[in-house]
Amino acid sequence: GAKIKVANPVVDLDGDEMTRVIWNQIKEKLIFPYVDLEIKYFDLGLPSRDQTDDQITIDAAEAIKKYNVGIKCATITPDEARVKEFGLKKMWKSPNGTIRNILNGTVFREPIVIDNIPRLVPGWKKPIVVGRHAFGDQYKATDFVVDGPGKLEMTFTPADGGKPKQYTIYDFKGAGVGMGMYNTEESIRGFAESCFQYALSRKWPLYLSTKNTILKKYDGRFMQARGRRRCSCGWAGWLGGAVEAVLPLPGALRSTLTIFDEIYRTKYQSQFENLGIWGLYQRRRLGLFKCTPPMRPTRASSLCIPAASGLKSSGGFVWACKNYDGDVQSDIVAQGYGSLGLMTSVLITPDGRTVEAEAAHGTVTRHWREYQKGNPTSTNPIASIFAWTRGLAHRAKLDGNDELLKFCGNMEAAVIKTVEQGHFTKDLAICVHGTTKVTPDQYMNTEPFMDKIKETFDSTRASA
Ligand code: NAD
Repeated sequence: GAKIKVANPVVDLDGDEMTRVIWNQIKEKLIFPYVDLEIKYFDLGLPSRDQTDDQITIDAAEAIKKYNVGIKCATITPDEARVKEFGLKKMWKSPNGTIRNILNGTVFREPIVIDNIPRLVPGWKKPIVVGRHAFGDQYKATDFVVDGPGKLEMTFTPADGGKPKQYTIYDFKGAGVGMGMYNTEESIRGFAESCFQYALSRKWPLYLSTKNTILKKYDGRFMQARGRRRCSCGWAGWLGGAVEAVLPLPGALRSTLTIFDEIYRTKYQSQFENLGIWGLYQRRRLGLFKCTPPMRPTRASSLCIPAASGLKSSGGFVWACKNYDGDVQSDIVAQGYGSLGLMTSVLITPDGRTVEAEAAHGTVTRHWREYQKGNPTSTNPIASIFAWTRGLAHRAKLDGNDELLKFCGNMEAAVIKTVEQGHFTKDLAICVHGTTKVTPDQYMNTEPFMDKIKETFDSTRASA
């Protein structure tokens, strides 16, 4: 058939090692034969970043800003060993961090759920999407070692010449450690908006986890009327804090307006309600997040969510995490869903207009070393394929291109159908058969696997 015409370009960010090999195959086999598309190509492979003094990463980010769609291959974040291996001029920063800082977006990790690939947590029938507020907190903190007795104090000096505010943090009797950290109102607002945008686009409810009983002012600023409707179960503590649904409280309780609550009520409530997705109220009716022992059912606990009952839930929600929580939770949740090869990652800006899609995994160096020796590898290309379909689907949405949107849906369906028919890469075969038992007849190498996907896609197209 004729190729699908796409009116506006997408930004293609190439990467490193095994994923770079796969990236090229995806474009040649699964995208370009079907879609007539203008690509703005940026080579973010490490040699190219080094050659351009990393300017190429900045240019790529600016291009994403301009065209609103970035599709990114995994890239090496250099450490000392990489500096040596590639003879780098400098230990360049993580491209993902650079791009995120320029776009000011939030990253959401969403697993691809396939029926015949068992999850470590079998009850997770639908995705749990972790959105991480990737700014500030511990990641921009000033931390230090205290050598001996002394007073740790903190001072805020207003720029307008107002009276400085002084806080005593601790009176040290001996050695110890200390830290000062911060976040900004602007960043928390951007985070909140990105979360609402993503939840709306997936038509899933949104939950925010905070520890506002402990960090009353700090975490309190993120959420809603503080101190109320908190889950007191032990699991919440273990998994990173009390958790609150992002929905408004009844008027009387709304004494302290905080960021998520305010933005929800002023901008998003009706959109959420129109989609029939819920927070505090419907949650109870759907019974998704009921606390059960050992999670001490208290009055509050009937209102408690993902952290607490995430392990018990069947998924299908977006979980907004503060920076450190998101770092930890996204890895725990990824483990629970099985292979990293099935984990997608999408960065979305607060206005919802700009999206950068990628696989959540790295460049799969271990396989690359084998590939370099001329050995066959069985690397899972699925999350990288979904980077393309998710990115193109956003292009389709912005352009009002239904044909392109349908193509993306059909390609994703072909990937899932291929796996459901029993065609696996090695990592998936391991999920099914267990690490020690898997034998070469149970899985395919990368390229034949992709050919199989193409075959499935073409046969569905032919019969349509
Ligand atoms: P990795 O994700 O490449 O691999 C981690 C483990 O998961 C390995 O055992 C690997 O074999 C397995 N794995 C990951 N993806 C797989 C797939 N698609 N199919 C089969 N198995 C898969 O992470 P790493 O080994 O820690 O890092 C390798 C390189 O990737 C590093 O240089 C790192 O800087 C980079 N990295 C980049 C990104 C990114 O660009 N977003 C993210 C993480 C790591």
